[in-house]
Amino acid sequence: MAGALHRTEALVLRHVDYAEADRIVSFLTADHGLQKGFARSARKSRKRFGASLEPFSQVNVHYRSGRGSLWTLQEVELIASRSGLCGDLQRLSLASYGVELVELLSEESEPHPPIYHLLCSYLDYLNSDGDGPVARLLFELRLVYLLGYIPHFLHCSDCLRIFHDESVRFDAARGGSLCLTCAGQAGLPVSLGTIGSLARSLNVAATRFEGFRFGVQTLTEGSAILAQVLAQVLPRLPKSLKFLV
Ligand SMILES: [Zn+2]
Repeated sequence: MAGALHRTEALVLRHVDYAEADRIVSFLTADHGLQKGFARSARKSRKRFGASLEPFSQVNVHYRSGRGSLWTLQEVELIASRSGLCGDLQRLSLASYGVELVELLSEESEPHPPIYHLLCSYLDYLNSDGDGPVARLLFELRLVYLLGYIPHFLHCSDCLRIFHDESVRFDAARGGSLCLTCAGQAGLPVSLGTIGSLARSLNVAATRFEGFRFGVQTLTEGSAILAQVLAQVLPRLPKSLKFLV
C-alpha cells in the first residue's frame, strides 16, 4: 500500500548507490529535519531525478512515506545546484564540514527550520565565492547559538561581572569568558575585542553572511573559541575537519 504523496523543499546532503541502479539520498529539510529517501532506478531514470541528487543541491522532493523511516522518492526537482562548490577544494571542504556539523548535532527527523536556513545560506555564500574563514566562523557561532549552546561572552561566567577594557580568558568547560581573577591559569587568553565581535555578530540575521569583515586576531581567537565550544558538544570530531587548514 503506497502512502499519500507529499512534497517538501530540501537540501541534498549526499547519496549512496544501492543495488543495481538505485540510490539512497540523505536530505535536510526545514519541516522534517534529517531524512533519507529511496530513489528507485535513479541511475537509469534521468527524467525523474536528473542531476538533482547531487550534494548541496536545493530541491523539491515529491515522496511517499510508508511504514519504514525511508521515504520513497517519486520525483526530485532541482531548484539550485550550487555547482560552484565542487570546483574548489577549500569551498568543498567547508561545505562538507557545515553539513557534517549539522548532522552530528541534529536528531533524526527533528525539524529545526532556522538551522536549515542557516546551512542553506552558508552554502549559498560559499558557492558565490564568499570568504571561507568568515563563513566558517559565522556558521559555527550561529549553529551553537541556535542549538542553545552559546557561552557567556561579555561577562565573567563565574562572578557574572561585566567586562570593561580588560584582559579575559575563555574556557568553554566553565561556561565561556572568565575574568582573570576567576580564571587563574584556566582557559585561553583572548581579547575583549574578539569577544565583542562574536557577540555583535549574533545581533544580525543568522542567514546574512555578506558584509562581515574580521581582522586576523578575531578570526584566530574566534576559531579557537568556537573549537572549544564545539568540542564540548560534538559526539566526535568531524571527519571533514582534516581537509580544512
Ligand atoms: Zn569573574
